[in-house]
Amino acid sequence: MSPPEHSVAIIGGGITGLTAGFCLKRKGVPVTLYEAGHRVGGVIESIREEGYLAEFGPNTILETSPRIGQLVRDAGLAGRRLDPAPEAEARYVVRYRRPVAMPDSPLGFFTSPLFTAKAKLALLREPFVPRRRDGGEESIAEFVIRRLGREFLDHAIDALVAGVYAGDPYKLSVPQAFPKLGQLEARYGSLIKGQIFGARERKRRGEVAKDRAPKFSFDEGLQVLPDALRERLGESVRLNAGVSRLAQRPAPGGWTVQALQDGREMLAEHRAVIYAGTAYGLAQMPIQARVPLSLAPFAEIRYPPVASVVLGFRREDVAHPCQGFGMLIPKIEGFKILGAIFSSSLFPNRAPAGHLMLTCYVGGERYPELASKPPPELVALVCEDLGVLLGVKGKPTYQHVVFYPRAIPQYNLGYGRYRQLMTDIERQAPGLFLAGHYRDGVSLSDSIVSGCGVADRVEEYLRAQPDSD
Ligand SMILES: Cc1cc2nc3c(=O)[nH]c(=O)nc-3n(C[C@H](O)[C@H](O)[C@H](O)COP(=O)(O)OP(=O)(O)OC[C@H]3O[C@@H](n4cnc5c(N)ncnc54)[C@H](O)[C@@H]3O)c2cc1C
Repeated sequence: MSPPEHSVAIIGGGITGLTAGFCLKRKGVPVTLYEAGHRVGGVIESIREEGYLAEFGPNTILETSPRIGQLVRDAGLAGRRLDPAPEAEARYVVRYRRPVAMPDSPLGFFTSPLFTAKAKLALLREPFVPRRRDGGEESIAEFVIRRLGREFLDHAIDALVAGVYAGDPYKLSVPQAFPKLGQLEARYGSLIKGQIFGARERKRRGEVAKDRAPKFSFDEGLQVLPDALRERLGESVRLNAGVSRLAQRPAPGGWTVQALQDGREMLAEHRAVIYAGTAYGLAQMPIQARVPLSLAPFAEIRYPPVASVVLGFRREDVAHPCQGFGMLIPKIEGFKILGAIFSSSLFPNRAPAGHLMLTCYVGGERYPELASKPPPELVALVCEDLGVLLGVKGKPTYQHVVFYPRAIPQYNLGYGRYRQLMTDIERQAPGLFLAGHYRDGVSLSDSIVSGCGVADRVEEYLRAQPDSD
């Protein structure tokens, strides 16, 4: 079946493309979504097997914007949403080679064994540390050392950076990867003051800080969301349809999309195109526009490899209670895993009775060479670390490894150049829109907000077109 005349083409059936398609359809704009793979969801992947419900990509959505809850309701999923049990709020950071609960109040911080007295004093001094005034771009490591001291970097931020980006704190850029931190310093002169005074402004804008945002999933895992969006998009979704070429049409405009669907080449005309794939895919996409576009630099964006190792154990084989969200592991502690999520304490029905499930990540910028090891070796190295950290003994009752050769883009120093290029490309090639994790933030919530935002921009663009109906 050929796509409807004048629909908007969406390349990529990850959460960004699906959200954009769903929002456009609700606005009355016909869409055709091309997904190269045989399923929707992109890196989201929930699998129920052997009594376990495993998540290999993201585990939860953070509700940082009202648009996220709205999408869930509009997709008819309010009744399937699952919020974690209150006891699952506890987070651990490894120190002295054991998981230590992260403090959740100022008093808790000052009595916590997580930091030495020296680090606690450094926090008290933070409001008096002068702003950086030369306007230079800093890495998150430099920023934290300057404002809070090295101990905060080595024992807290390094672990956090591994948990979010699987990244290197000496390379990740503050304005690109942690823009809110840079803004707090610029605006309030201090992170602590900004934390206190910024809360009022966020409330006014309807935003929630990432550390306070409610997290959630669905009864059958995160895959429920892409599957529901796909169902609502109906025949507009084409699976096994990798887009291989784009060409801008002469005036009055529009785009020709060439795709290989189930091995057959097809051409279709569209009024606009949203590219919601990956940065390295964009670098290789032949795009024939009226002016030559500079796409090759996107190949430089690093996506380090990550392996997700999901393991089930008998409850009695794990000494630690594993009640909470999970544990982050700083590099300085000398373990191979980047961190672990206590998946079965987060949501019910993730493991059979009397068992628990742990989701561990290996690789990233810290140890990229480990991620591609064969699954039995990965399981063995994860079990070794879990033995020390959580008192795990005995063999796993369930194991499943998924390898992401290119997992998460690194918003490293200089990333602003790529974002500027994306803005330039949209200006040079009207009707081509770029959205998703490589542009608007790497989290699932960022990708959803990016999908909603690009749908608004496309609607506005179409309204301004002469042949708009
Ligand atoms: C291991 C891992 C753990 C994560 N954990 C979390 C977490 O706990 N919390 C969180 O918030 N975020 C997490 N993330 C990040 C988050 O999942 C992603 O940022 C988000 O899902 C990206 O969605 P996307 O649609 O932009 O991209 P993707 O999910 O990458 O989707 C892109 C899609 O485009 C398709 N495509 C590409 N090129 C073409 C083409 N030429 N033609 C047709 N289709 C094409 C691909 O097949 C793919 O389906 C994690 C990511 C990974 C990899």
